[in-house]
Amino acid sequence: MDDILVAKFGGSSLSDSKQFVKVKDIVEADKRRKYIIPSAPGKRFSKDHKITDLLLMCHQLASHGLNFDEVFSIVQERYTGICQDLGLSINIEESLKEVKNKIRDGASVDYAASRGEYLNGLILSNYLDFEFIDAADLIVFDEKGQYNADLTEKKVAERLNKTEYGVIPGFYGATEGGEIVTFSRGGSDVTGAIIANGVKASLYENWTDVSGFLMADPNIVKGAAPMDIVTYRELRELSYMGAPVLHEEAIFPVRKYGIPINIRNTNAPADKGTMIVADSAPSTDKAITGISGKKNFTVISIEKTLMTSEVDFFRKLVSVFETNDVHIEHMPSSIDSISVIVPSSQIDSKLKKLLEEIRIYCKPDNITTYPNMALVAVVGRGMISTKGISGKIFTALANAGVNIRMITQGSSELNIIVGIENEDFNKAVEAIYKAFN
Ligand code: ASP
Repeated sequence: MDDILVAKFGGSSLSDSKQFVKVKDIVEADKRRKYIIPSAPGKRFSKDHKITDLLLMCHQLASHGLNFDEVFSIVQERYTGICQDLGLSINIEESLKEVKNKIRDGASVDYAASRGEYLNGLILSNYLDFEFIDAADLIVFDEKGQYNADLTEKKVAERLNKTEYGVIPGFYGATEGGEIVTFSRGGSDVTGAIIANGVKASLYENWTDVSGFLMADPNIVKGAAPMDIVTYRELRELSYMGAPVLHEEAIFPVRKYGIPINIRNTNAPADKGTMIVADSAPSTDKAITGISGKKNFTVISIEKTLMTSEVDFFRKLVSVFETNDVHIEHMPSSIDSISVIVPSSQIDSKLKKLLEEIRIYCKPDNITTYPNMALVAVVGRGMISTKGISGKIFTALANAGVNIRMITQGSSELNIIVGIENEDFNKAVEAIYKAFN
């Protein structure tokens, strides 16, 4: 089978003509880079606008019957500027006009949002001299907006079999009736993974503006070491707590065939970045892979003697959170007590009601709430087989004067999560990092 690479370039990698030049150099440096997935142009500097945001603004104004010429002209200038700078012959004005008319005439919000990738795809395919393939013809959603993986996989394989080199815009697909549907924000990462799966690529490259992941947040740990290799599952454990570089749904499509994802930096193409690999990968000599965390959780601690002998106790407790639409993060328990840990932002206005309902339905002996808790996750697939990891973590925290309020180990045995005071958060991450590096 052919050795195929699928390369997705994020918004910052395609924000202006200079970035396009870098992308072309990267694509042409390896002939195996056959299918390219562009995002919409992102920010060129911190106060700049992302094209997707501008298009959403246009849609918002149009849906209120307001004039959106001024906002659309910024979109127009960005694209025409790129085409002019690169000396392209493509008539992007024509496509821009069509997009503008459709937004004015009441096109859907998903249609408007998706045009950033569509237009960028047209430009990039012209610049690279690759075939343009509309994602609306490959990526299938049902009428309810649910992504249809089986049908998509078939279509991608069939269609791309006929194309040697192609550009497929990220972020959207369509229903079989032709209605455009987008993934959630940042969804071009998902498109790249779907295409990589469909063509059974040997590697999915995800080009962005950082050289992969670091073992800890560099704002907390200066000079934090890069993460060379991480498994899909480890990444899930790390990213659900911290700021994700990669869309969290991007690993599901590639997981099926164990296609690795390589996070690379368009602005530093010599860096090898982070490799995200199948869960079966052998563990490295590193005891831990990374540390991440989040602040602002509230712990609701419920005590009741013999609660485990009441068959419906846990169901009643969980139902209270469910009916109030509150997501539970963790639920560590002991014989006569259980703690429910939830993001504080979710219960700010609901706490009184929640406590009242717990009292009514669960009849506890005692309920206590502790706000301002932070959770720190220490993740590593080498953890199960290495002795003394938790000892090292707790010693480091004790030496740093951090008081531990909760400890849980995920059932995957990939992580240890500690609950601490918000104010100790940075100190704790630093102390744990130093203990292992
Ligand atoms: N352009 C879209 C966004 O800004 C999708 C993406 O970049 O992946 O969210």
